[in-house]
Amino acid sequence: MITGENYIGNQLSSLGNKTYKTFNPQLNRENSFVYTEATIEEINVAANLAAIAFNVYKTMPGAKKALFLNAIADEIMKLDDALIQMYCSETGLPEGRAKGERGRTVGQLRAFATLASEGSWVEAAIDTAVPDRTPAPKPDLRKMLVPLGPTVVFGASNFPLAYATAGGDTASALAAGCSVIVKSHPMHAGTGELVASAILKAARQTGMPNGVFSNLNSSGIEVGEMLVQHPLVKAVGFTGSIKGGRALYDLAAKRPEPIPVFAEMGSINPVVILPNALVKRKEELAQTYAGSITLGAGQFCTNPGLLLGVKGEALTNFMDSLSEEILKIEPSSMLHPAILEAYESKKNNILNQSQIEVSGQYELDVQPNYARQLLTTVDGRSFLENKLLHQEVFGPFSMIVQCEDINQLIQVIKNLDGQLTGTLIGDKLELSEHVDVFEALKNRVGRIIFNGVPTGVEVCTSMNHGGPYPASTDSRFTAVGIHSIKRWVRPFSYQNCPNELLPDALKNENPLGIYRLVNNHQTNIKIESV
Ligand code: NAP
Repeated sequence: MITGENYIGNQLSSLGNKTYKTFNPQLNRENSFVYTEATIEEINVAANLAAIAFNVYKTMPGAKKALFLNAIADEIMKLDDALIQMYCSETGLPEGRAKGERGRTVGQLRAFATLASEGSWVEAAIDTAVPDRTPAPKPDLRKMLVPLGPTVVFGASNFPLAYATAGGDTASALAAGCSVIVKSHPMHAGTGELVASAILKAARQTGMPNGVFSNLNSSGIEVGEMLVQHPLVKAVGFTGSIKGGRALYDLAAKRPEPIPVFAEMGSINPVVILPNALVKRKEELAQTYAGSITLGAGQFCTNPGLLLGVKGEALTNFMDSLSEEILKIEPSSMLHPAILEAYESKKNNILNQSQIEVSGQYELDVQPNYARQLLTTVDGRSFLENKLLHQEVFGPFSMIVQCEDINQLIQVIKNLDGQLTGTLIGDKLELSEHVDVFEALKNRVGRIIFNGVPTGVEVCTSMNHGGPYPASTDSRFTAVGIHSIKRWVRPFSYQNCPNELLPDALKNENPLGIYRLVNNHQTNIKIESV
């Protein structure tokens, strides 16, 4: 049931008088539920509770945290059709997408449950004492990863489940032992509330401390700003635009005690199509890329917004085929009128640049909130000279850069901002002949795809979802996969600590049976003599 209230730990609360509604882009009208934005008092209560809960939650065994995470997954599944209908009504996305995203969300929660219950992720390292070492005795040192503290999570508009309330950031922070406050995305407050209710139900069932999770409503940026500046908050996870992510990052850096902001932000995901591939696979590539550029109305952080090739007949033919294919695709609804407005405005900024030519533009009438796809082209030199052309246009948009030769193409890559992905398309021979292109791309991106499309992020351990700034604020970490847990922890060492005072992960008898680096050997056996 939707209450429109804030979930502050186990309590529902709506002290404020600022209210808002979500919007159904397919029906082009507001949804009926009313949500109340959190007040400063409610933010303070949520932060205090999160800090108190953290002190209890962080010491709970991994197996107990795993019960909690699995119970969240179960409770989300029990929301059944109510969740799917709410998701669709707040996004305009189809039911299939909603179900797919729910599957991914639940899968992530279960993967972190397995990680927490197995326990070796804490990277325990033990160097036993050598009392008779000369000239000085060696102390007993033991190190492991410990959670940072209460964490604030901002969800993205385009993933109301997988990158939101119980999405990857929340699941990984809870698995690490952090309490979590979600700043609910205003566009999917109802989806967020349903998921928050599932999390709190799971928390009660599994005996979690009050305040381990809170969900705060907001219709503007103030609630998020206050949370990031709150002295009890120790880390932030953000998925969204470069503008939003950077603003929060700067705010966190200016605090008396700066805290990390792990922001995953926009990207234009360059795709390099080498000459032979353009000749041999023109039709297939045109069809595949028309699909990838327009997938989900282009509202993916991995959308291929930039296609790079060497000028000539093959590239011109490919451009013609891609334009034809892209115009065959029926436009679809964007998430919200404001996102459509931003798309139109960024498209116009690009079209207003004198060097830009339109290659394919959908011109027929569309329903309200539907986005018309656009394919543009520019020469390599103009692209290098005009930084405005390097910006993300969030929607079904792409730009083909026609480079003079491979050297200019490499220059273009070197001048790009950091990106989530890069894609290389070519036959075996030309790929091996263009190691220089690969190396240039590798410096600018977090993942390279060979002969595929960047859209579609597999959730698994070896996925890296992040990249050099501004793709993310810290390229050392991924936002997807179990290693994303490392964003919410810090290393901590115990020197000459009595065995009984050590956490289980570092005790001689290794009661958790986890893998540890003992005197530089990876092992799960206990330490016999100390
Ligand atoms: P957004 O406009 O940045 O909003 C994301 C959240 O941040 C919202 O809750 C928003 O609150 C808040 N926010 C924005 N600016 C803020 C500020 N200055 N101070 C405090 N809070 C602020 O992004 P979006 O439109 O939801 O998502 C689209 C973008 O996300 C695209 O650029 C896309 O590429 C990117 N994205 C990246 C990834 C990734 O993994 N790298 C994944 C998905 C999407 P309000 O709405 O209340 O203003």
